[in-house]
Amino acid sequence: MAHTPAFAGAGYTRDAGALSYLYRLMQLRLYNTAARAKQPFESLTPGIVKMYCCGPTVYHFAHIGNLRTYVFEDLLRRTLEAAGYTVQHVVNITDVGHLTSDADTGEDKMEKGARREGKTVWDIADYYAQAFFKDWKALGLIEPTAWPKATGHIPEQIALIQELEKKGFTYTVPGDGIYFDTAKFPRYPEFAGLDIEGMQAGARVAMNEGKRSPTDFSLWKFSPKDAQRQMEWDSPWGRGFPGWHVECSAMAMKLLGETLDIHCGGTDHIRVHHTNEIAQSECATGKPFARFWIHGGWLLEAPEESAGGKQGGGKMSKSAGEFITLDVLINQGYSAMDYRYFCLTAHYRNYLNFSYHGMDTARDSLRNLRKRTDPLIGNAASIHSDRAAAWHERFLEAVGDDLNFPQALGILNLMLKDPDLLEGERAGLVVAFDKLLGLKLTEAEAPAASADLPAELVSLLPERAEARKNKDWARSDAIRDQFRAAGFVLKDNPDGTVGWTKG
Ligand code: AMP
Ligand code: ZN
Repeated sequence: MAHTPAFAGAGYTRDAGALSYLYRLMQLRLYNTAARAKQPFESLTPGIVKMYCCGPTVYHFAHIGNLRTYVFEDLLRRTLEAAGYTVQHVVNITDVGHLTSDADTGEDKMEKGARREGKTVWDIADYYAQAFFKDWKALGLIEPTAWPKATGHIPEQIALIQELEKKGFTYTVPGDGIYFDTAKFPRYPEFAGLDIEGMQAGARVAMNEGKRSPTDFSLWKFSPKDAQRQMEWDSPWGRGFPGWHVECSAMAMKLLGETLDIHCGGTDHIRVHHTNEIAQSECATGKPFARFWIHGGWLLEAPEESAGGKQGGGKMSKSAGEFITLDVLINQGYSAMDYRYFCLTAHYRNYLNFSYHGMDTARDSLRNLRKRTDPLIGNAASIHSDRAAAWHERFLEAVGDDLNFPQALGILNLMLKDPDLLEGERAGLVVAFDKLLGLKLTEAEAPAASADLPAELVSLLPERAEARKNKDWARSDAIRDQFRAAGFVLKDNPDGTVGWTKG
């Protein structure tokens, strides 16, 4: 397969070495829920990965458990990009039709949120989507290629349901909606290893009247006759709104095609939401829906951290009412990067217990890390030595092995203490590693006032910018040394500007 080279960053110039990295990263192995095993990853189309991630239901703020899943997906995206892929990354915004239970009963979460706050459903969706984008940015998550909204894709969802209807996979429950008949898809239980008979025995009582099996799920819900809904649309089956699962299949296939390379989400989605996405997509197209299913482990709430101590621990969840948001952490003196670091300390597939003690440790660790990396900012030189190349390789090996970021963090810390590395190479490695970690280690603090800088040094800045543009690192390093001799440390900001501090 043809792939573009990996790790062009950090001024890496060892061609032979770069090839060996490329080779290693092509061994990228990811745990595929569908196979229940780690598998070598390659995209279907050379050089391009089509990745769909289930996004937020915007009836409330995202909690830090949700955000843990988006951090893991960001690490996956960065790893794929490091391996030379262009990632077509889609994250949906669920702004309609998600009932409070997975079994298609209960209230619509969006309408419930609107009632709670005395606003329209549209206002609620917009408000919480904006809050979500703010968290996304604060955590340094790379923008997806598209943020499709469920309400913006009603015709596509209707078309998908019509296709399923044409092929005989649906039935109507009068007064309720159009349902997917899971018995017609014999592989339905495979993905999550479901015991359908056991479920049938246990669920008869709780099941909606008219549903043939507890695993059947709604594709289209009819609007209630006695109440006016704020969000409803006309359809071939009458006025109503789409079921939750159908939006992901419709938007993923519209934006990425019928077979995705990767579909992600949290492990809570395996049994129902993703199982249903597979059923409806594969029955409609006759093709595999996603080649790799990658799921992030839960953030658990330690009993003492639960809202009011009432929940006694367990999975952090929005429906529980009170939960911890990123703003709650920020108001308590942690930064978004402290939380990102906290997430990096656990493997993405493992449970992670949230605690403020854990956050304190993460904050201290990040501060200590920055004490070592800050003086290196702007110093990055090409990597020439075998020693530096070996560190780079170790780091990439850890990341390529099903995103072992806890190990990668350890390697960064060890590399920073290696007395035999040249300073410029050490700085180059920090740049390369942070492209994956996303901890903003290369961002300098605000520059000191320019008036502090003697005129003869100011006049050197354009020359240095020119040298850097031409990759004339020797000249740019020589200018940096002149600054240092005069008592100033230069810092290159990510926006291309240069700052300096005395010291
Ligand atoms: P939601 O907004 O509830 O649809 O969830 C958005 C994403 O967060 C989904 O991928 C969920 O699987 C994931 N998620 C929900 N709760 C947690 C949790 N406690 N820890 C990690 N991920 C979660
Ligand atoms: Zn989804």
